[in-house]
Amino acid sequence: MTDSLRISNAARQGPIHRRGLMLILSSPSGAGKTTLTRDLLQDRELDLTLSISITTRQRRTSEVDGIHYRFVSQEDFEKLRAQDDLLEWAEVHGNFYGTPKSPVQKVLAQGRDMLFDIDYQGTQQVRKKAGADTVTIFILPPSMRELRARLERRAEDSADVISKRLDNARHEIERWKMYDYVIVNEDVQRALSEVKAILLAEQMKRARSEKGINDFVAQLLAEERT
Ligand code: 5GP
Repeated sequence: MTDSLRISNAARQGPIHRRGLMLILSSPSGAGKTTLTRDLLQDRELDLTLSISITTRQRRTSEVDGIHYRFVSQEDFEKLRAQDDLLEWAEVHGNFYGTPKSPVQKVLAQGRDMLFDIDYQGTQQVRKKAGADTVTIFILPPSMRELRARLERRAEDSADVISKRLDNARHEIERWKMYDYVIVNEDVQRALSEVKAILLAEQMKRARSEKGINDFVAQLLAEERT
């Protein structure tokens, strides 16, 4: 880590050191999660790092390899899975998706937060492995009609892919009870503020900074004696 990075982390965290958390956003395709994710990442104050998944799905024209996903062959996916390099993986809409483990470990070790855009199957696996360090949010569309409209507006998937995604959306929506928070994305600015409020409150939880607070309090109390 460079010195400038170290300084900016210290400034962001204030006097109390805390563990990094894993902020997981899930939603059916078209609920607006991509826009939310982009806006969260653009907010430098939040200092979130996106976990870039690997996938066997075909790249969409708007996507860039290494930024939106790392696009891999089925063979490479299976190799990474067999090597235990994935924190979680799942089959979604007939394609495989997975979260590489090492970038997550690096970011969390720096006391920084990681953002995940993964489905409910992946969320379940990450929770099992790192429950206390996860914060999970499910994003709902305001209506099924709006969900369909958003998928059609995107115009990047064929009609049968869109109808498959709509069918899947119903099953995914039923999983909302697995999540810590549920947000209805009627207005993206409002949804964004809600995610930020959740993130801030979760960052401040005592349990995430137990050692940091302990050290800070010890220093505070020592001050009186000098
Ligand atoms: P899309 O193909 O539209 O980019 O994503 C389809 C679904 O796969 C979305 O619900 C997305 O959250 C999920 N997904 C993307 N990456 C991962 C991943 O690494 N693991 C899991 N479990 N789901 C993922």
